[in-house]
Amino acid sequence: MEDNKKLVEKILKLKEQKNAVILAHYYTNPEVQDIADFLGDSLGLSQKAAKTDADIIVFCGVHFMAETASIISPDKKVLIPDLNAGCSLSDSINIFQLREWKKKHTNAVVITYVNTTAEIKAESDYCCTSANAAKVAASIPKDKEILFLPDKHLGKYAKLVSGKNMLLWNGECHVHKKITDEQLINAEKKHPYADILIHPECDCSDSFIKNHKNVYLYSTAGMVKHAQNSPKKEFLIATEVGMLHQLRIQNPDKKFYPVFNDAVCEYMKLNSLEKIYRTLKNEEFEIKVPENIAVKAKLPIERMLKIV
Ligand code: 13P
Ligand code: SF4
Repeated sequence: MEDNKKLVEKILKLKEQKNAVILAHYYTNPEVQDIADFLGDSLGLSQKAAKTDADIIVFCGVHFMAETASIISPDKKVLIPDLNAGCSLSDSINIFQLREWKKKHTNAVVITYVNTTAEIKAESDYCCTSANAAKVAASIPKDKEILFLPDKHLGKYAKLVSGKNMLLWNGECHVHKKITDEQLINAEKKHPYADILIHPECDCSDSFIKNHKNVYLYSTAGMVKHAQNSPKKEFLIATEVGMLHQLRIQNPDKKFYPVFNDAVCEYMKLNSLEKIYRTLKNEEFEIKVPENIAVKAKLPIERMLKIV
């Protein structure tokens, strides 16, 4: 504990000396969340990266998030504490697969979830996050075919809400696919009065969503907002378990229960205080997207930021 305290002091000192900012996702370890200047979902973190006047952004999340920050703010130094912080969802489509798909649907509009590489974004028309996927789909003219990638569950939800003509890539996140209807039903039996907050990357069925009054689909930041504004005292949380730390801190009078305790993203957990300290001290590992890709990838991200 004493070691952590010293590390935190050293991190804060270096941060000030180097005019750095620490951005962290809600799935990171509690001690990482506790020292972040800003915590958020993918959308909030990219908006923050776009606005910061810091010289260095230490991005405590996963690789694609740091890439997005670097695309939006090419003049900033974007650092990531561990280069192995990847994402199974982002890995579920590569550039050759996207090109083949596009060849078969030459007139389609491509909407790409932010959980993808910069290379994939560079060949897309629109970007979206879990907070705005349905809104982005709704903005596309009715007669247009939409290719949505890579998350089939978020795509299914966006299609349901927007009613658009969407073809879905068959990708999913290895953490959220573990959260099923059966677990939700069991959790609900234990806490029948709780609101059920579900991340749209989860593998739960339309019928579960339709047949339950207290079910809400949200991005991680949407969950925080709902918990703050709801008069309810109990919440079931269907997403990565790191989410519970912030919900509990911000709402000490309310109870939060994970739907599945083992929903853990190993990639997010690679961020640690030791690594953040080393990152700041040595200014490593820098994430820089090649300019030719960054310029093209910026367009779909900017289109998304204009819609929200
Ligand atoms: P949010 O944008 O909702 O934070 O989701 C990011 C993510 O990776 C979920 O697995
Ligand atoms: Fe990627 Fe899933 Fe981890 Fe989110 S929880 S960063 S989608 S692997």
